[in-house]
Amino acid sequence: MSAMVEIRSVHKSFGSVEVLRGIDLEVAAGRVTVVLGPSGSGKSTLLRTINHLEKVDRGWISVDGALVGYRKGEEFAARRASGKGGGGRRAGKLYELREREILKQRTGIGFVFQNFNLFPHLTVLENLVEAPLAVQRRPRKEAEATARRLLTRVGLAEKADAYPRQLSGGQQQRVAIARALALEPKLLLFDEPTSALDPELVGEVLDVIKDLAHQGTTMIVVTHEIGFAREVADTVVFMDGGRIVEQGPPAQVLDHPRHERTRSFLSKVL
Ligand code: ADP
Ligand code: MG
Repeated sequence: MSAMVEIRSVHKSFGSVEVLRGIDLEVAAGRVTVVLGPSGSGKSTLLRTINHLEKVDRGWISVDGALVGYRKGEEFAARRASGKGGGGRRAGKLYELREREILKQRTGIGFVFQNFNLFPHLTVLENLVEAPLAVQRRPRKEAEATARRLLTRVGLAEKADAYPRQLSGGQQQRVAIARALALEPKLLLFDEPTSALDPELVGEVLDVIKDLAHQGTTMIVVTHEIGFAREVADTVVFMDGGRIVEQGPPAQVLDHPRHERTRSFLSKVL
C-alpha cells in the first residue's frame, strides 16, 4: 500500500514554543487516520502544515509523492525519499518551483474546519461552485452539475438555494464537506468536524464522513469521537505535547494503550 502522506521529523515553533517536536507519520492511500490528543497538543498545527497553512521549520511532508514543506538543505534528502530523484538545481530554482506546486497541491487537499467556514453571503450551491470556477476554471454548467451531485450525496439536494444561516449546524457542516469534495481532493483533512455541533447533530455529520471512508477516501480526522475512531479508523494516533505518543490499530491504541498518557486521556473522553 503506497503512502499518500509521508511526514518526516517535522518540527514547528511559534516564537519560542515548539508546538510540533519531531512528527513522523505515514497515511496509506485509501486509509483513515484518526488523531486524538488533549487541547494544545499540536493536532491542528499538524493538519495545517499538511495543507500549507503553516510552514514547517524542520523536516518535510510529502503528499502523493509531491513535497509540501521542507527546509533549505533538506531538499535533496526529501526529493530522494519521495522518489523524485536528486537534481542539481540551485535552491532558488527549487523554491520557485515549490511556490507553484503549493498552489497546485492545495487544491488537491480538502480541509473541513470545526466552524464550517462557509461563505455566509453565498447560497449553498454558490459555496460549492466558487472554487471549481475560480481555481480550476471549470465551466459553470459542469461545476453546478457536480455540486448538485455532491449535495445529493450528503443528503442536502433540496438546500441548493438556501443560505448557510438558514441551515442547522449539522447541515452546514455537511455542505462544508460537499464543498471540500468539489475539488476532487486526493486527501481530506478534518479538524474536529463535530466539536461545534449540538450533540443531536453529531451523528448525521459522522455518517457522511463514514460514508466517504467506506468509499476509500484518504483522510486524516482530528476528533474526540472515540466511537467513530473505533469504527472507522485504520490507524489511531495519540498526540501529546507536540509528539506522537503512540499509534496503531484502534483495538490496540483504544483498548490496550501502552502509555500512561494515552490511558489517562482516554479515561477522560470515554
Ligand atoms: P490542538 O489542535 O491539539 O488543540 P494546536 O495545534 O491548535 O493544538 O496548538 C498547539 C499549541 O500551539 C497551542 O499551545 C497553541 O496555543 C499554539 N499555537 C497554535 N497556533 C498558533 C499561532 N498561530 N501562534 C502562536 N501559537 C499558536
Ligand atoms: Mg485544534
